[in-house]
Amino acid sequence: MTATRVLVLNSGSSSVKYQLLEMRDSSRLATGLVERIGEQTSRVKHTSAAAGDGRERTGPIADHDAALKAMAEELAADGLGLDSPELAAIGHRVVHGGKYFTEPTVIDDTVLSEIERLIPVAPLHNPANLTGIRTAMTLRPDLPQVAVFDTAFHTTMPESAARYAIDVATADAHRIRRYGFHGTSHAYVSRETARLLGRAPEDVNVIVLHLGNGASASAVRAGRCVDTSMGLTPLEGLVMGTRSGDMDPAVIFHLMRVGGMSADEIDTLLNKKSGLIGLCGDNDMREIRRRIDEGDEQAKLAFDIYIHRLKKYIGAYCAVLGQVDAVAFTAGVGENSAEVRAAAVAGLEPLGLAVDAERNAVRGEGPRLISPEGARVAVAVVPTDEEMEIATQTYALAGNND
Ligand code: AMP
Repeated sequence: MTATRVLVLNSGSSSVKYQLLEMRDSSRLATGLVERIGEQTSRVKHTSAAAGDGRERTGPIADHDAALKAMAEELAADGLGLDSPELAAIGHRVVHGGKYFTEPTVIDDTVLSEIERLIPVAPLHNPANLTGIRTAMTLRPDLPQVAVFDTAFHTTMPESAARYAIDVATADAHRIRRYGFHGTSHAYVSRETARLLGRAPEDVNVIVLHLGNGASASAVRAGRCVDTSMGLTPLEGLVMGTRSGDMDPAVIFHLMRVGGMSADEIDTLLNKKSGLIGLCGDNDMREIRRRIDEGDEQAKLAFDIYIHRLKKYIGAYCAVLGQVDAVAFTAGVGENSAEVRAAAVAGLEPLGLAVDAERNAVRGEGPRLISPEGARVAVAVVPTDEEMEIATQTYALAGNND
């Protein structure tokens, strides 16, 4: 039997998301989430064709080991057990691959220790990713396990975009540079945008706007990333659900010296209590739009700040790329908020950018154009699919492709 299935794992500090994909027809056999790991009220949500509308159960799940065992039980209950000879490989989302990992990589001891070495630059994510990998290795030690890095797509950035203008020796000693994140999404969406235009990725320049709870922009020239808005960590760049994005770094010294805050307190402030939630108390764009419709000034200001920053990045990346063929909106906000898309592009007609109100208002599933007929630059909504991209890359590297 040819092994044609890939299990994709995205292990966070207190959750594991999983998807089992069939690569022959790119279908999703099962998806699920184990959350609140380590608490009494852990929850497993599981969906598959056999599970109908899906199943949910709560109860204590002590650690990642128990979480992956819970996942394995759910899959087995639907006849999709991990012992299946049809399973070709397991693909792991790994947040930080530093400069070292420029491509998806089959995991061995050297790879594990390199991911571990990167913990100082990704203290929240890489330890959780490592735990997920090590646990999955014990479940199926015979299978290839592949790491797909969030940073990999951005390793093509030139030094002029990747370096901060700080003392070079200090930067290098501490591996301080702009790595960028959401790379799997930027890679997938830029390629899908080219496909939507009926052109090869090497023939188009695309600005990708990944607007989810986390948000980032990238400038992609001929299929290669030349700039992106996130930096050493995902804190830099756009205004996000709970992150500030760009800010004068002196705000941090000021908060330390004058505000008496510690580094950890400022870290939490900027990553968890800033952005939209800091500005107006909500980080869900649906709720913010609802409040704006009711005349809420604070929500309106938060929206305006969000759009102002987004517009600056669109303008900047038009300048970085020179020739722009398409701007693609993706992720939760980008795919669903017609208001954000219209506001971000409003007034950019001199750059060749415009949104057709009717097209923009249509809710659809797949990739679609929202710019007017004959526009110089295509504006598109291109749904992202990070799991499918991880599965595709994993299968290409480790699948039994005979
Ligand atoms: P993501 O991180 O890509 O899952 O995106 C999550 C975010 O998408 C949420 O926090 C919302 O702000 C936003 N979102 C999801 N659905 C909608 C919608 N129908 N309209 C506007 N924003 C949405």
